Amino acid sequence: MTSKIFVEKFGGASVNSAKAVENVKHILQLSNKKRIVVISAMGKTTNALEEVVNLWYKEKKLSPKLEEIALYHTQLLKQLFPKKEQFANVSNILNNIIEEIKTQLNNINSNDYNFLYDSIVSFGEKISTSIISNYLNFEGVKNKLLFACDIIRTDNNYRNATVLWEETKNNVATKILPLISSYDTIIIQGFIGGTKEGLSTTLGREGSDYSASILAHCVKAESLTIWKDVPGLLNADPKRIKQTTKIISLPYREAIELSYYGASIIHPKTIKPLENINIPLFIKSFIHPEEKGSVICNQEEIKPKVTNYIFKDNQILLSISPKDFSFIDERNMALVYNVLAKNNIKVNLMQNSAISFSVCFDENVNILPKVLEDLKTDFNVKYNTNLQLITLRHYNQEAMEDILKDKTLLIEQKNRTTVQYLVEK
Ligand code: ASP
Ligand code: MG
Repeated sequence: MTSKIFVEKFGGASVNSAKAVENVKHILQLSNKKRIVVISAMGKTTNALEEVVNLWYKEKKLSPKLEEIALYHTQLLKQLFPKKEQFANVSNILNNIIEEIKTQLNNINSNDYNFLYDSIVSFGEKISTSIISNYLNFEGVKNKLLFACDIIRTDNNYRNATVLWEETKNNVATKILPLISSYDTIIIQGFIGGTKEGLSTTLGREGSDYSASILAHCVKAESLTIWKDVPGLLNADPKRIKQTTKIISLPYREAIELSYYGASIIHPKTIKPLENINIPLFIKSFIHPEEKGSVICNQEEIKPKVTNYIFKDNQILLSISPKDFSFIDERNMALVYNVLAKNNIKVNLMQNSAISFSVCFDENVNILPKVLEDLKTDFNVKYNTNLQLITLRHYNQEAMEDILKDKTLLIEQKNRTTVQYLVEK
């Protein structure tokens, strides 16, 4: 009989200092169970590694950020391992990884930015998990460190790799399950995978939630817990709305809808693999681990049923009308959509009238000129920038009136559950 397995995920903010790593140990010690612990890179390491990649790609220069990354982790190690000998062991591992990064930078001949990115940025998680696994073993939380590039099999679509499920399930069955009976805790990196040739890939920024969900699916976990610096799911970002409410429980479908509209609670791909085999997802505070948090699971109702607010800044609105005075018909819409698809644009809102078609999407200074160029043969295009898209799910009259105060409304769209406003701030 296979025993119950739990998956837990710790993000960058939960492992950003020696104190934070100690706290991870305390949380793991709160209960005794078989688990897979998925960990992100420490603090802002991924951003720093991105800078290393960018400078190398542009100018073949080694960014001082690499030295900063080494220093940051060394400081942390000093606090985690106050005794010289233990420190020396783990610091050796760290130094080897830093050297490996330099070797790879020098050896990669490819001009493929995404390939370079995945080879280098994936080291953030390799560093964090090596440190934490060693620390936990040293502190008596016996664990086995595994490498996600050997387990999560993906295609070679670097920076946004697609998971190959059958191979991944097979790897989990042959490489994780046999170990979990002797090691109660398996430590593994989030965010990264590997091709069948053994090359590192990444699953997209903030992808560790998704990694945890993939592993939970493959081992048919009892639950997935994501440890966060907030008390659970809130109905709005507290930086935007004064009074927020904690959602106690949320149906999977609702979580998918919220992340579709831009709520940044969890990586959008996280829910599906869980929903398919009914694994509950707990979101809990690593600061107050004894508190209940929120759960996303198979149920009908949101509890409590409050309005959810989602804000998206830096929106751009294109108003497109055909140059030949024709109406906005299917042929014209297809032309516009082709241009948007070609430029990888995700439309957040659209509206059309007889002679004009409006689309709203995230502003991106690199892409806008290309889109305008591609549209200019057939269309006149006007645009507004720096707009905000506000989505209210399960709206009520009061919430709608309140949110529009002091704002100029450009577009409104409403159905039974959701209202969206595109506004000038
Ligand atoms: N470290 C990666 C990132 O910051 C993955 C993650 O944190 O989920 O994007
Ligand atoms: Mg991160």
